[in-house]
Amino acid sequence: MSPTRITHLIAGTEWTGTAERTSPVYNPATGAQTGVLDLASKALVDEVAASAKAAWESEWQNASLTKRTQVLFKFRELLNAKKEEIGALITAEHGKVHSDAVGEVTRGLEVAEFACGIPHLLKGGFSENVSTRVDVYSIRQSLGVVAVISPFNFPAMVPLWFVPIAIACGNAVIIKPSEKDPSAVNAVAALWKEAGLPDGVLHVVHGDKEAVDALLDSPDVRAVSFVGSTPIAKYVYERGTANGKRVQALGGAKNHMLVLPDADLDLAADAAVNAGFGSAGERCMAISALLAVEPVADDLISKITDRMGKLVTGDGTRGTDMGPLVTREHRDKVASYLDKGTEAGATLVVDGRDGDVDADGDGFFLKPTLFDNVTPGMPVYDDEIFGPVLSVVRVASYDEGLKLINDNPYGNGTAIFTNDGGAARRFQNEVEVGMVGINVPIPVPMAYFSFGGWKASLFGDSHAHGMEGVHFFTRGKVVTSRWLDPSHGGLNLGFPQNQ
Ligand code: NAD
Repeated sequence: MSPTRITHLIAGTEWTGTAERTSPVYNPATGAQTGVLDLASKALVDEVAASAKAAWESEWQNASLTKRTQVLFKFRELLNAKKEEIGALITAEHGKVHSDAVGEVTRGLEVAEFACGIPHLLKGGFSENVSTRVDVYSIRQSLGVVAVISPFNFPAMVPLWFVPIAIACGNAVIIKPSEKDPSAVNAVAALWKEAGLPDGVLHVVHGDKEAVDALLDSPDVRAVSFVGSTPIAKYVYERGTANGKRVQALGGAKNHMLVLPDADLDLAADAAVNAGFGSAGERCMAISALLAVEPVADDLISKITDRMGKLVTGDGTRGTDMGPLVTREHRDKVASYLDKGTEAGATLVVDGRDGDVDADGDGFFLKPTLFDNVTPGMPVYDDEIFGPVLSVVRVASYDEGLKLINDNPYGNGTAIFTNDGGAARRFQNEVEVGMVGINVPIPVPMAYFSFGGWKASLFGDSHAHGMEGVHFFTRGKVVTSRWLDPSHGGLNLGFPQNQ
């Protein structure tokens, strides 16, 4: 079968132009090229940004909260009805297993549900009579056109972290999805049109660096929400803010799980396997370093190894536990860490290159892999591998484990496993990480809290969704008003003082 063309969705309609450049899209489970993606030029991005600005000014900036809420509720219903279908698109291009793909749509749906409460979320404050016959009130207004630039690993959920809130707040949005798995975003964007969002308020432009740079340089784009690897997040933050934009740029991660000797080791082993190998380790909240406080390492490794033996890796449409990696290059890069780990002196306990997978064709597979005796300074510990490679680091104490976590340049997620409430409480206070789990391995906050890391995992001040999302996509304004009584104030050139 020849690859299907995948193109931009401009104002809800497929683009009919001819792309100067394209990029291949693969089914990672078979290795076959299934799509050919149009990549946007700078000129196209500029055109789209101008059209988004016009739609914001004429259609959406002053749309009533009632109208916005009606669109949001309708969108929420449509998305809920299409979860399975969108999940299938994700599995076909990303490779994650179908249940996991539907799970990511569900987590994105929760942000749409949060955004349905926008009339309440945007309520300002009012103080009567702050000075004699003077009232003060605060309002929050939309920014204009905002851009959402997303990574490959959550093709539906990450755009959904931002888009429903940006739209609910009255902005126009341009989404630039990952070029590796672009179809899910198109499918979700089509639902906004069906939900009654005016044409021009939402666009999807596909592309690579040229499209991203055009968004970062466009004077029509007021804010950028980026999620991806740390070097690109830093670049996007610096270029975007240099151009006067508001930017939140979420970067990479190296998440540690600290297991204290009093922990329930069966719970900890389940958690390590689920969080280490779910979505083939291609989650920014995946656990990649397991800090075992001695003497539990041997027991924990034995329990983890038992569980790994039961996992079935293969095509995500076949009810398997773990799918392939996203591209052949990424699989090869992840696999290269197996040699790097042994060369550096780590012990390869389970080698993911061994054994069969349940798939046809030449997919991009690497099975779950476990290292023991990993130490800082080894590439398997220092780098964000972003694959199904779990490293056990043996530590002597809580303090040694905590120091490793706090010394790490990343600070996205972490977890502690213990039955000691005092230790858990100390950990939540002392750890320098944005999202913390206590006996919970993937502590992804609900939509009404905010998602985001610290240190090299976030450039900017605002985390995603929750109230921080509402604030990111709006500007505050405070009005001081006086409706005159028949008496007048008279001239006074001094600084306003309240009476
Ligand atoms: P990536 O940085 O390669 O790509 C992210 C986006 O940036 C894509 O849309 C891509 O087209 C664009 N891009 C890539 N290179 C660019 C360049 N040179 N100039 C401008 N734009 C460029 O990331 P990825 O491989 O798609 O995603 C995986 C990474 O994302 C991991 O590091 C993971 O930890 C991170 N991530 C972080 C979070 C978080 O919440 N912190 C969530 C998901 C993923």
